[in-house]
Amino acid sequence: MPLGQFQCPECQAPLIGSPATGVLCERCGARVPIDDGILDFVHGPIGPVSEPEDYDALHHIDDVRSVARYRNLKRLAGEHWPSSLGSVLEVGCGTGLLTRALIAEGEATDLVVTDIFRPMLRATREHLEHAGLLSAIPLTFATHGGTEPVFRDGAFATCVGGSVLHHMPDVRRFLSNMFRWLKPGGRAFFTEPNLRYHRALGQTLADILALLHNEDPTYSDGKQALLNLVSQWRRGILHQGDLAFLTTLEDKHMFASDAFEAMGQELGFAKAYAIPTSYQPTGVGFVGALCSQLNVGEAVRSSVLGLLPAFTDRYLSLLSPRDQTDSFLFWLEKGTGPVMRHFRGPPAPDAEPPADLPEAFRTGGLPPRWWLELTATHTPEGISLRLNGWCLVNTDVKWIRVTLGGVTRQAPVWLPRPDVQGTINTESVYASWNALCCGVNETLSFDDGPLDLTIEAVLAGGFVLPIPAPPGLQLNEPVVVTQ
Ligand SMILES: [Zn+2]
Repeated sequence: MPLGQFQCPECQAPLIGSPATGVLCERCGARVPIDDGILDFVHGPIGPVSEPEDYDALHHIDDVRSVARYRNLKRLAGEHWPSSLGSVLEVGCGTGLLTRALIAEGEATDLVVTDIFRPMLRATREHLEHAGLLSAIPLTFATHGGTEPVFRDGAFATCVGGSVLHHMPDVRRFLSNMFRWLKPGGRAFFTEPNLRYHRALGQTLADILALLHNEDPTYSDGKQALLNLVSQWRRGILHQGDLAFLTTLEDKHMFASDAFEAMGQELGFAKAYAIPTSYQPTGVGFVGALCSQLNVGEAVRSSVLGLLPAFTDRYLSLLSPRDQTDSFLFWLEKGTGPVMRHFRGPPAPDAEPPADLPEAFRTGGLPPRWWLELTATHTPEGISLRLNGWCLVNTDVKWIRVTLGGVTRQAPVWLPRPDVQGTINTESVYASWNALCCGVNETLSFDDGPLDLTIEAVLAGGFVLPIPAPPGLQLNEPVVVTQ
């Protein structure tokens, strides 16, 4: 196992030894923990993870798909694809969908396979062993979370990851590290979700689900599964840029093509391209695949797919052709020499709208509605406040913000509430995307103290809408505020 691409995470000196005898720093003597042949730079599990077997079944990983996916990346990259990938760093291997083809297609000279989770690396290694690929090229397995300083500058010619950036808390920091790990002339590529498409398609699906719900409000697993998905997309999209909140989600980021390209150039890459992976102007193909993944029954599936083309004009057709894809292949290249460059990023977003803007303008022209129940209880840790209900505004609502005894906590507004659509919005005057996903259900923790109360709704544009509430709470006495 070659260690030349690694360095000591403590002092950046070279590492010596081998997984069999132990790996340590030649300068400071720090030992790298090794677990079953896997270098462990990430200590302890971080965040949620599916079992590797479930992951395989869920994502239909097999050898045929592995090669097909690899060749598709090559086709999308076109003239950018190099004659050899050279030394490759794979980030977030999962169960090895891409790893297998990276070795089998013979374009990598050696490969460092990483994932933040050890079980994924073990599963990948097992699959490679079954496929007889474990000794085809020099291979190293290591846990890595994207930011640990364990790779030497210029160690790799290629850095690759399939659907991995959107799981990382700080993408910009990862890419700036990766810039250093790449040799001059090296390249990196990743397949990642398209923010604008998910927003447009999420709104389209919400309109279709609202229509189906208004026609027949009976519960169905299929409708619920699609609605859960739309709620998750909406929550992620409304909170883009809020790293503290996104860290709590498994799927953290979606990317706008031009913003990603600008970030690549700001970080010093000579080339940064967002290449569409497909062209899906109606969404039928993508939604069909999602229905299969989510086991949506035939009745719901055919209604939704049948309605999609008729709804295209509402949101999807407003996207540029390049944005009519669910994901991008992001392609980054490091220049080969010193380059004089002057890069100016995109203009800053508009300043806040004027403070004297009428409230109706900020709340989408329709009266805001809500039903919120608050129950404070005493626990050994302090005050526990259960907040449950919904808040519907004809614009995007991000948070319900509760201030108790001078301390502020907030709860995301995002949960599916088809019942609100069915009672408040039968005429679909409020945007379905907001009516269907207006639920809130959180337990907020406060220190012991006075129970004087303020409640507000925080809208996506930054406007804060006061929610009239009694001046204080009593322990164990639920309070309902509604309008
Ligand atoms: Zn050291």
